[in-house]
Amino acid sequence: MTVHQSKPFESLSIDKARRDAAHFINGEFTQGTTGKSWTNYCPMDNSVIGQVPEGGRAEIDAAVKAAREALDGPWGQMSVVERTNLLAEVADEINRRFNDFLEAECLDTGKPMSMASHIDIPRGAANFKMFTDVAKTVATECFTTPTPDGTGALNYGLRRPRGVIAVISPWNLPLLLMTWKVGPALALGNTVVVKPSEETPLTATLLGEVMQKVGVPKGVYNVVHGFGPDSAGAFLTEHKGVNGITFTGETRTGEAIMRAAAGGIRPVSMELGGKNPALVFADCDMEKAIEGTMRSVFANCGQVCLGTERVYVERPIFDEFVKRLKAGAENLKLGRPDDPTTNLGPLISQEHKQKVLSYYKKAVDEGANVITGGGVPDMGDMNDGAWVEPTIWTGLADDAACVQQEIFGPCCHIRPFDTEEEAIKLANSTDYGLAAAVWTENSSRAHRVASKMDVGICWVNSWFLRDLRTAFGGAKASGIGREGGVHSLEFYTEITNICLKL
Ligand code: NAD
Repeated sequence: MTVHQSKPFESLSIDKARRDAAHFINGEFTQGTTGKSWTNYCPMDNSVIGQVPEGGRAEIDAAVKAAREALDGPWGQMSVVERTNLLAEVADEINRRFNDFLEAECLDTGKPMSMASHIDIPRGAANFKMFTDVAKTVATECFTTPTPDGTGALNYGLRRPRGVIAVISPWNLPLLLMTWKVGPALALGNTVVVKPSEETPLTATLLGEVMQKVGVPKGVYNVVHGFGPDSAGAFLTEHKGVNGITFTGETRTGEAIMRAAAGGIRPVSMELGGKNPALVFADCDMEKAIEGTMRSVFANCGQVCLGTERVYVERPIFDEFVKRLKAGAENLKLGRPDDPTTNLGPLISQEHKQKVLSYYKKAVDEGANVITGGGVPDMGDMNDGAWVEPTIWTGLADDAACVQQEIFGPCCHIRPFDTEEEAIKLANSTDYGLAAAVWTENSSRAHRVASKMDVGICWVNSWFLRDLRTAFGGAKASGIGREGGVHSLEFYTEITNICLKL
């Protein structure tokens, strides 16, 4: 993939010029009609970024109507090649405007530009490219056999776009996770109404400019800003003009959305929370296990659904592992997104900071040994930002809240284990089942243990190594369904079986 960066991120700064967001409905930017808006703050220092309009039922109605008309009109009539060529241009245009997306994403989230320039923005573009390839290359042959009773009929399955798709996305990887859904939805012929997270409205808005520039027909991509309950999120998921809902976010929100989807019997795709384990065996490559666990615990300030919050280490290497992870955590540099030496940014918001700090306090109340961190760092002129210290605990009970509940911050609990069976049991002992990491140089053990992880994704000797063609999703309370590559066909298309009597 070519990345057209006009200048390296090292020379960018977090531009404090005011940036307001807008809805993007039927190919036009609008502030809507509710007269309501909220202030968007940069979590780095709590400075004001701009205003965001709050959409109501009228905006959702207009967006769903535009999406339906596009489906029945120009978008629905385009050939796969025309459609996917346009989406490839969307990817190219994101890359051409790489720095605009980078600045917008880092303003909204405070995350390091070094991370967003390697992951968030390139993946935002790649999601369009990859799914255009899927749509173009997916096999269209149909294999059929005569009916068993010999009546002479030919059956074949026709995959059609599902229709108008509601995309509800979170704030931790805003562009990446939104396009992970918008990419396949559009490539497979659907139209979308996106409700981005209220914390991160900018890149979804910017994508509207890209759609306009490359000439994607109006109504194909719509964005309505707002909150969840009694706001744009709930109005969208309740809307009967929506044919399917794809959601990434917290498990509890997923439950509310499933209730809304029950009205009208609309299918859902759910990518939900996690409390992911890492199992570190004594026969691991220690360097790699430490490096991988550092990333899986602290990347994006611990705000990655796939991130590790529970680390189980085989007893002979427990003390050394704890010592080395502590040293790693204490070496992390917290700082501004536009400082290339920054490893860790702030949390997403003051509200989330209070939630994470409440777990820091709870861990102590529950009897944890605080190995490092546990408080708020002194960030000088950024002290109004949503900063917390990278934190490691040991000594918690297996049923402690900090071991069972998703915290979504830069923290983990490390616990020793003695046998493989015990490690497997511990790994599977929460309600969640999103991801796991297994660290061992014994390949038989690797396969054996990985196959017993009750999760959607298990990495062996790595973490967050993604091939976008593979099945992505969670088990248990971490989700329903799989997306990625051809797996996305399941949700974004509907099969009609056609039976032709011969
Ligand atoms: P969240 O559930 O609070 O919000 C996600 C989105 O849902 C936002 O756009 C929000 O406005 C909307 N929303 C909230 N209530 C709603 C309602 N009743 N109806 C309709 N929409 C509603 O999640 P978050 O805090 O933005 O993201 C963090 C969570 O997302 C974590 O739990 C994390 O594990 C999870 N996550 C999961 C994956 C995955 O792939 N499994 C990926 C990233 C994040």
